[in-house]
Amino acid sequence: MSHPYLADAEALAQELTATRRDLHMHPEMGFEEVRTAGIVADRLNGLGYEVVAGVGKTGVVGLLQGGQPGDRTVLLRFDMDALPIEEANDVPYRSQTPGVMHACGHDAHVAIGLGVADVLAKHKDQLPGTIKLMFQPAEEGLGGALAMIEDGVIDRIGPPADRAIGLHVSSQHPLGTAAMRVGPMMAAGARLTITVHGKGGHGAMPHQTVDAVVVASQIVNMLQTIMARNVDPEDIGVVTIGSIHAGEAGNVIAESAVMQGTIRSFTAETKALLRRRVPEIAEMTAAALGATVTVEISEGIDATVNAEAPTLVMADAARALLGADNVSMDFRTTGGEDFSAVLARVPGNYFFLGARNDEKGINAPHHNPRFDIDEACLPQGVAILCDAATRILHGEG
Ligand SMILES: [Zn+2]
Ligand SMILES: [Zn+2]
Repeated sequence: MSHPYLADAEALAQELTATRRDLHMHPEMGFEEVRTAGIVADRLNGLGYEVVAGVGKTGVVGLLQGGQPGDRTVLLRFDMDALPIEEANDVPYRSQTPGVMHACGHDAHVAIGLGVADVLAKHKDQLPGTIKLMFQPAEEGLGGALAMIEDGVIDRIGPPADRAIGLHVSSQHPLGTAAMRVGPMMAAGARLTITVHGKGGHGAMPHQTVDAVVVASQIVNMLQTIMARNVDPEDIGVVTIGSIHAGEAGNVIAESAVMQGTIRSFTAETKALLRRRVPEIAEMTAAALGATVTVEISEGIDATVNAEAPTLVMADAARALLGADNVSMDFRTTGGEDFSAVLARVPGNYFFLGARNDEKGINAPHHNPRFDIDEACLPQGVAILCDAATRILHGEG
């Protein structure tokens, strides 16, 4: 059987690349995606979508009613923001904005989303139910998904979403492959700040002080015991202190120290454990050494949890295009993703689409100044998402 959307997607290949490169040359930071959102809204309008702009500040929602009877609504999500990175690639489509770069591939996501919009609009007479496109701002740590949810993207703009799907292009996976899993696939994450309050003094007279550097050092070491001794060995998590700032001079004992880090987990149990043990250890260690601490843990993002039924549909759609051997069902990463906020409210699937090509030297990690993608992944993303959305509207998953 031929693929229902492959020909449509391949016919768009050049346009997808052109769109992606235009967006790549004009990257915009989170909640500042004004040009990008304008392009999205214009294109959706031209394709006959009902468009709602300014959702979650710079987000855009597109609604398309199918021509067949059906009461399901499927939400497809595409993030739009770039990163504060100076691009190091020497390519014709290099970022034209100093210090800002699409180094995570969200330019590709917008291009794929517009391709999906185009193909599904062509086939709308055969579709039952409603397509809801969510073009999201500010995925990179600023809460764009939640901002759109608060503005009603799930249940107040158009019919409530019954299923939600999305993808991330991946430089960790080769072109022509996809990776996902049922259950928690990406970690919950939160920012951590620990401030040690000691007593400063002369570097030669430590007995008159409470040395914040010594206290901070002990806390860093003690935090390592959480993963080693507290977390269930069957589960995994991360406690990282990525920055420590204390002291000004070699002969002055520091009065305070500020440590910043991140905590990651997949299960609710481990998330709760980390949020309890990090402050306990910091407070008790500081107390043992005569200091006090202030511990702040941000609310953070949920783990990205894939529901079983829609994930099996997505896996079928990916296999139908890429072949059974090229779809992995056991991928998991301690990276985080704010689409988790949608998947916490609507059953759905998020998956990784391979965009790496070692032969072309396209393999730099995400958030790296040399990040790039093999653009041949763009029509693949369009075909897989159109197929999965159609299956879902027909009642699968
Ligand atoms: Zn990213
Ligand atoms: Zn990303």
